[in-house]
Amino acid sequence: MKELIQIQTDIFRASYANSRSLIFLAEGYSESDESLFYRDVYDLLNKLENSFPFSCLKGNGNRYMFSVFVSFSPSVQYGYANSQQEAVGRTVFETYFENGKLHVNHTKINSYIDDLIYTGSQGNAPFFVKNSIPKGITFQVEGLPTFEQNKLVFILLPEANRTDIELEVDDIDTYYSILTSVDNHSEQIIQKATGRILGLADEFDLPGADYLKPVDIQGDFILSRFPNLFYAPNITIGPNPTINDDFPWRWGFDKNYNSSIPIFKNTAPANVNRDLPLYNVSYTDIELWEGGGGFRTDVYRSAPDCIMRRKIGDNTLPLKDHKVAFCPICRELLSSFLIIK
Ligand SMILES: [Zn+2]
Repeated sequence: MKELIQIQTDIFRASYANSRSLIFLAEGYSESDESLFYRDVYDLLNKLENSFPFSCLKGNGNRYMFSVFVSFSPSVQYGYANSQQEAVGRTVFETYFENGKLHVNHTKINSYIDDLIYTGSQGNAPFFVKNSIPKGITFQVEGLPTFEQNKLVFILLPEANRTDIELEVDDIDTYYSILTSVDNHSEQIIQKATGRILGLADEFDLPGADYLKPVDIQGDFILSRFPNLFYAPNITIGPNPTINDDFPWRWGFDKNYNSSIPIFKNTAPANVNRDLPLYNVSYTDIELWEGGGGFRTDVYRSAPDCIMRRKIGDNTLPLKDHKVAFCPICRELLSSFLIIK
């Protein structure tokens, strides 16, 4: 058995059973690096405490919403390997970086999580982590992942001095987990994954005919399920929040706002849109930007960029390079989720 240890900070104080948990496992830290691992976890938590939406938890009564757990197992050697061959037996999860991508041994993830328990201090019956981590990603409607678990497993690698050591493991035979080195803005990997379990959809788009635009059942699901996306087939003018009372983002506008919302169509829907702003800015106005939830047309997000638009493991939509803000709609939604009214 492998045991989780709880780490409590000012804002992460909940118990295992009744909270959303961030679970950190060590990869590529050798026996003598154990204290380095804990230092890296504390640095990351410190960054999270000062990053939205976790920063909302400071000084409000919701410190019992999130919990943090760690489990350390030493690797034989430090860091990731450079080939599959070299990776065998080298680290806990046998990670290696080859052809520009991080790889991991899925069997090692499964056996680790199968063995992982939390007993706590009260002599309670242990919780098995495996019972709260799905294998793969759940789709209630084709093409639209929903993240209904309240535990997230992050496999942390030591600093690698590059920002592309990351991987989302989402195949249906393996416990859902996210790997990242602790470089630069690795806290944004956690912010992104947390946004998903709090009910936000991805705002990037995907290739292929299936993702050109949603069919009705997908569009209806987006409207009913993902509050950061707006499904509106074939519109050329944005809704006026004062007049259009079925517009889902009406609440985001001042009562004096009485005109159509600016709309920015995707001008090249044949391909994936990877446009990002040149500068790191935070958006204040709610606009309609076409593309989101994987779909390249007919679905809108509220700004050009957002942490939810970035994609774990895709260096063309990087999360760790520099600080990225949430779009205005995600900011409002996340603060309303986290702040006790
Ligand atoms: Zn957003």
